[in-house]
Amino acid sequence: MIKALIERVLPRKKPLRVEHSGSALGLSPARMSRNAVQVCDKLQRAGYEAWIVGGAVRDALLGAQPKDFDVATNATPEQVRHEFRRAFIIGRRFKLVHVMFGDETIEVSTFRSNRGGEVASDETGRITSDNVYGTQVEDAARRDFTINALYYDPIHDIVVDYMGGLKDVERRTLRLIGRAETRYREDPVRMLRAVRLAVKLRCTVARGTATPIREHAELIRNVPPARLFDEIQKLLLSGYARDTLAELRRHGLAEGLLPLLDLIYQQPGGQRFIELALDNTDQRVRDDKPVSPAFLFASLLWHEVVKRWAEIESRGEHRIPALLQAMEEVLDEQRETITLPQRFAGITREIWLMQPRFEQRTTKAALRMVEQQRFRAAYDFLLLRAAAGEIEQELADWWTHFIESDPEIRAELIAQRQRAQRQHESGPRDGQGRRRRSRGGRARQRGERSAADGGPDVLAPENDA
Ligand code: ATP
Ligand code: MG
Repeated sequence: MIKALIERVLPRKKPLRVEHSGSALGLSPARMSRNAVQVCDKLQRAGYEAWIVGGAVRDALLGAQPKDFDVATNATPEQVRHEFRRAFIIGRRFKLVHVMFGDETIEVSTFRSNRGGEVASDETGRITSDNVYGTQVEDAARRDFTINALYYDPIHDIVVDYMGGLKDVERRTLRLIGRAETRYREDPVRMLRAVRLAVKLRCTVARGTATPIREHAELIRNVPPARLFDEIQKLLLSGYARDTLAELRRHGLAEGLLPLLDLIYQQPGGQRFIELALDNTDQRVRDDKPVSPAFLFASLLWHEVVKRWAEIESRGEHRIPALLQAMEEVLDEQRETITLPQRFAGITREIWLMQPRFEQRTTKAALRMVEQQRFRAAYDFLLLRAAAGEIEQELADWWTHFIESDPEIRAELIAQRQRAQRQHESGPRDGQGRRRRSRGGRARQRGERSAADGGPDVLAPENDA
């Protein structure tokens, strides 16, 4: 309280420029991308300043392998573009240059400033436009965390630190630059970044940076849904999705992102299902296998779909129309916070919609299903449901056997199921020659469902674990 008051009354100390030798800190051009070094070299030869900045410097100092490289310069975007053959100016809110080298893109940004009066913000303090060029020190001050504001010149082997970032690297601490409240108001996504980066880098979040998060968590709702989608995608595809989501919940941030999450966690098996899906994704990311955001969203929202599906069906709607309606309700609600791009939402729908079709193993439809474009994703989803105990493992195994078999064997597998079903239908009769109702039949009469009649086994009470 007093500290905040003093900070407000006293004029801010001008940040001190501290220079270090990069190699003394363990940095070298060889640890950076060759293309990033080349961009710096070329810009410097043209008379500009050019530094590798942000995540790449931070990761290298913390002993991690940097994955994407950003360069900061005093050249304007137009001047940068002029220096490279394959360079494109992108962005509306602020202009950046993408310099392309084969599969690698180096993002080059002009030093920007946060100077009051020249930056537009909305009524909550969120910055809506900050395309004001500035000096390096101003550029450092508008970055989020001290460890993200380190500049490395790979040509001259210099690291520049204005914000005490090196000390925080040593302590493995994420600390916001400036007053946390103001910085979160300017851009609420910084709260998500604090949590995501802390998990990814195994850093602690400084107390003054962590404490205000809970109180400001609501501000996430002001962030445009498309930007939130980008951020959550980063978070889910980080390889640490499960831990990150747990941390987001601990800080009260998950609700603003996935408003349905709390509801889903309350449902029987909901939490287990999501954790399995995230573990699975994290493993794939670590194994360098592709992961699909559509699949992840299908997993995150599935239990809410299942719940509504059952509710709508119990009001007398047919099975598939009920599923369709449940899907749209859930996607609509989610859309209010995170815009799932249409191409992803389409795949998410297909994955869900194929689930009841896996129960139809007695017709040629099974043969055709395997040919569908989304079969693989839908099948992986089925495996997940089995692993979570929602459906019988036998169903998943049957499909595994089915897709691993030759066409004749596939046909035979279907024929087997047909025979089994006929036997089941002509099953034991009671003394008066009437066929005894199966448990499934009785359940149907009571308006319930069971695995036996192909209802979503997800709802079976024995799967409540
Ligand atoms: P990673 O790439 O590992 O997710 P990063 O810190 O590199 O982490 P980027 O989105 O690549 O994240 O951003 C590059 C740099 O831009 C950051 O290191 C930071 O200096 C600055 N930056 C990014 N987002 C913000 C923000 N919301 N507010 C202030 N500065 C930011
Ligand atoms: Mg980065």
